[in-house]
Amino acid sequence: MRNKILIVDDSEINRSLLSDMLSGEYEILEAENGMEASAILQSHEHEISVMLLDIVMPVMDGFETLVAMNKNGWIKSIPVIMISAETVPAYVDRAYDLGVQDYISRPFDERTVRRRVINTIMLFAKQKELSHMVADQMMEKENGNQLMIEILSNIVEFRNGESGLHVLHIRTLTELFLKALLEKTDKYDISRKDIPLICNASALHDIGKIVIPEEVLNKPGRFTDEEFAIMRTHSMEGARLLEDIPMRKNEPLIQLGYQICRWHHERYDGKGYPDGLKGEEIPIVAQVVALADVYDALTSKRVYKDAYSHEKAVEMILNGECGIFNPILMECLKDISDTLEKELSVLSQGSSQTEILGTVEMMMEKGELEVSERTLRLLEHERTKYQFYAELSHEIQFEYTAMPEMLILSEWGARYLDMPETVLNPREEAFGQKVFDGSDFEELLRLLVNTTPEKPVVEKKYLLNINGHERWSRVIARSMWDDGETPEYMGAIGKIVDIHDNMEKMTNLERMAAHDSLTGLLNHKAAKEKISDILNQDEQQKYILLLFDLDKFKQANDQYGHLFGDEVLKYVAETIKKSTRASDIAARMGGDEFLLFMPYKEQAEPLVKRIFDLLCGQYKEFRVSVSMGIACAEECGGDYSVLFHMADEAMYEAKRSGRGRYCFYKAEMADTGGEAR
Ligand code: GH3
Ligand code: MG
Repeated sequence: MRNKILIVDDSEINRSLLSDMLSGEYEILEAENGMEASAILQSHEHEISVMLLDIVMPVMDGFETLVAMNKNGWIKSIPVIMISAETVPAYVDRAYDLGVQDYISRPFDERTVRRRVINTIMLFAKQKELSHMVADQMMEKENGNQLMIEILSNIVEFRNGESGLHVLHIRTLTELFLKALLEKTDKYDISRKDIPLICNASALHDIGKIVIPEEVLNKPGRFTDEEFAIMRTHSMEGARLLEDIPMRKNEPLIQLGYQICRWHHERYDGKGYPDGLKGEEIPIVAQVVALADVYDALTSKRVYKDAYSHEKAVEMILNGECGIFNPILMECLKDISDTLEKELSVLSQGSSQTEILGTVEMMMEKGELEVSERTLRLLEHERTKYQFYAELSHEIQFEYTAMPEMLILSEWGARYLDMPETVLNPREEAFGQKVFDGSDFEELLRLLVNTTPEKPVVEKKYLLNINGHERWSRVIARSMWDDGETPEYMGAIGKIVDIHDNMEKMTNLERMAAHDSLTGLLNHKAAKEKISDILNQDEQQKYILLLFDLDKFKQANDQYGHLFGDEVLKYVAETIKKSTRASDIAARMGGDEFLLFMPYKEQAEPLVKRIFDLLCGQYKEFRVSVSMGIACAEECGGDYSVLFHMADEAMYEAKRSGRGRYCFYKAEMADTGGEAR
C-alpha cells in the first residue's frame, strides 16, 4: 500500500505541482481548505502518512486547521508540514507551537519537498515505532527490506573503515549502468522494473566481509598471499550467509543478492574468483556490480591508496588495467562517463550517512518530475493570464540570464522595441548599445551583480532610445540567485516602464509652480530661492536688486479695461526680457510690481538708468512710467530678506518723492527720506 499524502492548499496549481512532485511514491488526497481537510481526516486518519498545509486559505486557514487537529488528537498521529510564503518568525513559531513537524517556505523546489516529505515520514515512522503506535508500517515498504539492508551494509562498511557512501555509490552506479545497458540491448533477462530490486541487492555485495578478521580487513599496506586468500573468501561467505537464511531462499532479493555476493569478483576473461566463471557464465547483475565496485574503488581514497580522478579511473578500466569486463558494459561506461561523476557528487553532498538518509536518497533517485496534464493545463492558464496582463500593462518585461548571456523579452516588449524576443549577447550593438545610451546597460548589469539575495531589487531611470525616440524610462529589476549554500548570481527579471509623458507633465508642473502665468516671468517664491542661492555662493561678483511698481496703473484698467491692463503688464515683462540677459533673474511680484536681480561691473547707476529708460515709454494709449528702488547686495550680508527690504524702502521713497524715478537705498532712508532723482 502506498503512503497517502494529504495536500491542503486553496490554489489548484499549487496542489497540482505538489501532487506531481510526490505522486510517484505516494497516493495524493487534496483539500481546498481546512474544512475539507477535516472531513478527509475524519474518515482517513490512519491512512495518511503526512499532511502538507498552506497557511492562507478561505473558510478555514492553516492555523485554524492545526487548532482543530490538536483538539481531535489528529496532530499526534499525522505529521504536518507547513508550506508557506510567510517567513515571519511569528508565523513559523506559531506553526511549530501548534505541532507542525517541518516548515517549507515558498518558492520550493522538488528536491526540497520530496526530501522533507520523506524525512518527515521516516522520522515520524521512527517515533511511531518507538512509542509502539505502528510498529511495522515502514517495514512494509518496498519489500520491507530496504532499511535492514541499509543497516546491514552500513555495519559492514563501518567495519571496513569505509565512508558509508560506498554502498550508496554502488547502488547509484549499478542503476546507471543497468539503465545504459537496457538502452543498448535486450539480450539479458532484466527489465526497467527490476532495477530497484537489483540496486537493493547490490547493497549486499560485501556482506561476506563480516567474517573477515579485523586485522586483515583494515591492514594498511600490501597483503601477503595468505591475507589475500582470506580476503577473497568474502564473496563466497556472503553468498553463504544469504543462502542460509531459512525459508527465504526463493525471494528475488535473496537470489539476486546471492549472485552478486558470490560473483562480483569474477572477470569476463575467467581470471576472477571464486569460481573462475567466464564471459556470460557470470550473471549480468554480478558483472554490473563488479564494474561499479571497481570504479568506486578507484575513485575512492583507501588506507593503501589515494583516489584517482574520474577520467583516470575510466581510462584505467577501459585499458583493461583492472581486469577484463564485458565489452557491452565498456560501451555503457563510455556512454554515461559524462554523467557518472555528477550523479555521484550529488549523492555525497546530500547524504548525512545515516541509514535513513541513504534510503531517502535512493528513493529520490527514481526519475525526474513528470508534469501531469493537469499541471500543464493550469500552467498554460497562468501563462495566458500573465501574457494578457503583460500586454495590458504596456511594460517591457524581460528575463536576463548571466550564463550564457541572454535576454528574453515579453511578446509586447519585443514588438515595442522592434526586436526578437530572444536577444543573444545583449550587451552588444542591438540592445546594450542601441536601446541604452553609452555605458548605461553595463551600469545596470553591474548594479544587479552587486545586489544580494536579501536586497535584490534595482530601480533606476534611464533615457532610452525607443525606435529613434528618446524616452525617459524606469527600469525595475530583481536579481535571481540559485538556492545553493552560497547562492550564486544567475541573472535577473524585470521591467522597463515608459515614464516619459509623466516626466514631461512633472517638469511642466514644476515649471508652472515657479512661473507667473500671465507674463511667463518667475514668481516671487522661485526668484527668492534663486537669488538666495546666488547670495550664498559668496562669489566676488557685485549684484543689484531692482524693484519697481507701475505708476497709476489702476487708470489703465479703469480707462481701457482689465484686458488692456494685462496687455500692459505683458508689454512690461517683454521689455524686461529684452533688456536683460538669461542669467539675470526677472520676476513679477504680483499686481504691477516687478523685480530684477543682476550683476554689475564698477558702477550700478548706468545699468539702472538704461533699464529705467527702456521701461518708461508709451504702450498704445497708456503712458508707462515706473517707480524703482535699488539695493546693492554687498550691503545685505547675504540675506535676501534684508536686500529685499532695502530695495522696497528705496522704491517707496521713489513713489513718495513724485513717481517716475529711481532711487538707490541709503542707510538713513527709513527715517529721513532718500535721495530721489
Ligand atoms: P501707484 O502709482 O501708487 O502704484 O498706483 P497704481 O494705480 O499703480 O496702484 P497700485 O500699484 O497700488 O495697484 C496696482 C493695481 O493693479 C491694482 C489692481 O487693480 C491692478 N492689478 C493687479 N493685478 C492685475 C492683473 O493681473 N491684471 C490687471 N489688468 N490689473 C491688475
Ligand atoms: Mg502701481
